[in-house]
Amino acid sequence: MGDITVLFRNDDVNALTPELRNVTRIFLDRGISITHTVEPGNVSEACVAWLKQMRREHGGLVEIVQHGWNHAKHGRGEFGDGRSYGEQYDDLARGRARMEELFGEDFFPMITIPFGVYKQDTVRACDALGYKVFCAHYNYRLSRRLFYAVGRLLGRGQLFGRGISNHLRNYPRTRMFEIDSAISFIKKYYDDYGTECEFETESSMLGHFERFERFIPVIVVLLHHRYHNDARKLQLVEDVVDALQRRPCVRFSSYRGVWSEYRS
Ligand SMILES: [Zn+2]
Repeated sequence: MGDITVLFRNDDVNALTPELRNVTRIFLDRGISITHTVEPGNVSEACVAWLKQMRREHGGLVEIVQHGWNHAKHGRGEFGDGRSYGEQYDDLARGRARMEELFGEDFFPMITIPFGVYKQDTVRACDALGYKVFCAHYNYRLSRRLFYAVGRLLGRGQLFGRGISNHLRNYPRTRMFEIDSAISFIKKYYDDYGTECEFETESSMLGHFERFERFIPVIVVLLHHRYHNDARKLQLVEDVVDALQRRPCVRFSSYRGVWSEYRS
């Protein structure tokens, strides 16, 4: 079995909350990197100050990337249906400008699109803004892998409105490198902005990991700190991280790390 790189990404960073601190601490205590996706239109001054302090104290273990503009829902997502290229470009551009102004060199120019809802206009706008990394989703099911193979032959990022994974390749017809998400701690959301959800278990997370590692060498695990609002829900993160850290084949990285290692 070859080396597997695992990358933990925490989404929807806006206010400085105990959940944000607690989830971050789990990773830093273990010397593992954590990527925070920041909502530039919503992030508070206190949260910015804390993120910069974490960067000063822990360097590259704390990675800061951009999550859309303000996570508003226009239709099914922040980007996508019903929004013109210009509207999407403007939101992404002001988000990027804000990230650069707030974080300077501490910002890695990677974009994740809220709700995972986007269309080719969104991708073109991201490419025009010069992001180094774009994030889509990878699914190991055979039907999906066959669909991806067809899409890749056609050089497409989406086909019939569904995403084609180009994990660890360039997003078709762009200069962006694609690093896709794979596993989530959340099994089922009850609503978009809530703090209650159905979690996976440690064993189901590890089961997913074992299936993904047969197909891809870099596995992105998604977290949403706001749901980890009590000791038991934090323990789940610790247990999964510890179980992965015990596996000799696993090493941990960040988007910047994977991008520098894999881009051609
Ligand atoms: Zn989000």
